[in-house]
Order: sequence, then C-alpha cells, then structure tokens
Amino acid sequence: MEKDKQTTSYAICAFCKRTMAPGCGCDVAQIESDDVRYERIKVGDPNDTFHDMDGEVTCHDCNARKGQYHHVGCACDRCPICHDQFFICRCVPHAYINTYAD
Ligand SMILES: [Zn+2]
Ligand SMILES: [Zn+2]
Ligand SMILES: [Zn+2]
Repeated sequence: MEKDKQTTSYAICAFCKRTMAPGCGCDVAQIESDDVRYERIKVGDPNDTFHDMDGEVTCHDCNARKGQYHHVGCACDRCPICHDQFFICRCVPHAYINTYAD
C-alpha cells in the first residue's frame, strides 16, 4: 500500500472549519452588526455576485454552490447590509454568527 500524499489544496475556512471543496458552503449564516443580525447573501441570490449562475457552477473563490453561503473571506461575498463586496464595504464592523455555534 502506497501512502498517498495529501493532494487536496483547498483552504480551510477559519470560521466554519470546513474545507472549501466544491459544494461545501459555509456554515456561517448570519452576521451581527450594531446589535442587528443579518442573513448573509447566498450564492445565486439576487444580490450575489453570481446571481445569474446555474446550479452546477460553484463560486470560483470559495467553491460554494448555489444556495450555499460563501465562506467568510471569499472575495465574492457580499455584505447583506449595503450589498457591496464584503471586503470593500464600510459598514459597522461585523461579527459572524455560526449557525452551529455552541
Ligand atoms: Zn466557512
Ligand atoms: Zn465564494
Ligand atoms: Zn456593508
């Protein structure tokens, strides 16, 4: 038996700890800003970067599929408050709310 080297090169999301493999969306469903919680924008939502995508396409940055959340830090993630790209948005600092938080 040969020992295969770990060939996957997918990053691990620092927030949900899932591997960013195709079809593995983020578990972080909400953000909190100024004591208000907002549902994050899913891949394929009207306000998402990929609003015209079909179901087979995944986000080219975090590999999330339509109907899943972008991983935190994905360049294509959108702010649910201002609908700008998350990393250029100037909203009040957000806290991420993990749906499986304990
Ligand atoms: Zn994630
Ligand atoms: Zn993404
Ligand atoms: Zn914003």
